[in-house]
Amino acid sequence: MPETYAVDIVVIGGGSAGICASVAAARKGASVVLIERWDKLGGMGTLAMVQTFCGLYHPDVSLPPQLANPGLPAEIEQLSRERTGAEPVKMGKVYVLPQHPDVFASITQELTSAESSLDVWLNTSCTGIAQHPDESFTIYCGERSVTCRALIDTSADAIVAGFLGATRYSTPPEKTQRAAFIFSLQNVGLSAADESFRMRLALEIVHAVEAKELSRLALGTACRASTKHGEIFFTTDLDPAEATELLSQGHLLAIQLTEFLRRKFPEFSEASEPQLAAQPGIRETFRWKGCYTLTAEDLIEGTAFPDAIAFATWPIELRENTKGPRFTYFNQPVPAQIPLRTLVSAEINGVFFAGRCISATHEALASVRVMGTCFATGQAAGHAAVDYLTVDKITSA
Ligand SMILES: Cc1cc2nc3c(=O)[nH]c(=O)nc-3n(C[C@H](O)[C@H](O)[C@H](O)COP(=O)(O)OP(=O)(O)OC[C@H]3O[C@@H](n4cnc5c(N)ncnc54)[C@H](O)[C@@H]3O)c2cc1C
Repeated sequence: MPETYAVDIVVIGGGSAGICASVAAARKGASVVLIERWDKLGGMGTLAMVQTFCGLYHPDVSLPPQLANPGLPAEIEQLSRERTGAEPVKMGKVYVLPQHPDVFASITQELTSAESSLDVWLNTSCTGIAQHPDESFTIYCGERSVTCRALIDTSADAIVAGFLGATRYSTPPEKTQRAAFIFSLQNVGLSAADESFRMRLALEIVHAVEAKELSRLALGTACRASTKHGEIFFTTDLDPAEATELLSQGHLLAIQLTEFLRRKFPEFSEASEPQLAAQPGIRETFRWKGCYTLTAEDLIEGTAFPDAIAFATWPIELRENTKGPRFTYFNQPVPAQIPLRTLVSAEINGVFFAGRCISATHEALASVRVMGTCFATGQAAGHAAVDYLTVDKITSA
């Protein structure tokens, strides 16, 4: 017989959005269960080793870095800076904050464990959901289940919509953002910021691909400095045609690249074994259909919304093919507004969503999917779910 629990709000998915949604709801007084299928929180920022926070800062880089969203996005930024020692840096026309996946994992643990009304269920997969006639939900997770009156989907794949039969948006395969694999090498005798190393690396990879020593996928490999001395991160896009084998594709590439680097670059001769991401990096799958669907025009033109609850600042960054990222910047040097309606189901009462599965077009998602914005939409969904319960309680009293 499965154990059954009852809380006010269940959050499904413990990535950037889920952490902020659950902590924000708990801080407003709700009892919350956060369900995460892996053994740690942080989603792409820990499991896939994405090592830069984008979308945290005001888009006007003629000013010093200024936080775009208050509350949890600002707290996480502050904690990350204190723990890693990294400061915001200008990357092209935007500011970013280098972060470290291990540090982010400890921040997520600290923020969630500080809330006594928040219970985190790790290693727990949500395998089914039912909505009852009184509009409450039961979430099934194998041996246990939990009932609640409001549900926040931060699974990044809109899995709740799948279970409840609500409309999900997807993108045709030829336009879907490419997945990637990230790994790191430690004990390296140079910095990834070294421009001449980057040029030598690009050239050597081309030669190695021509000589069939490396897979063609290695051609787009990008490297990035770590906040830890002597460590470098490598990111390689994966072959979308082999979607079911992304993780093994990534592992194989990382091992090939490590051997290649040790062979070709004396600075890598003492490099550690690769630290492999536990998950492939997935940029895009399914999104919810909300009460409003955010568009690229809204972001680029700066549409004003009466129900704005968060700000987007990252340009539209499309990585649909091997030609690399294509950026479209906002016309105005101010943050773009995200309305609450993009986080509220148009079809099912009591369902909210945030992060990568919000109601947005393919192009708009290419801006709002970055972690800084996911923190902000997560926080907003947490607040909205508590408000929904509070208003409902008052009207039914
Ligand atoms: C290669 C790559 C590079 C990127 N680079 C950057 C960058 O430099 N800067 C930046 O800010 N952003 C970057 N991004 C984007 C960013 O990392 C993600 O869009 C963002 O982390 C999404 O956050 P999220 O909370 O919506 O989802 P996720 O971080 O994906 O979290 C979703 C969580 O839900 C859990 N989950 C899913 N289904 C279930 C289930 N059934 N039961 C229980 N749990 C479930 C998952 O395990 C996961 O932990 C990058 C993404 C990729 C893939």
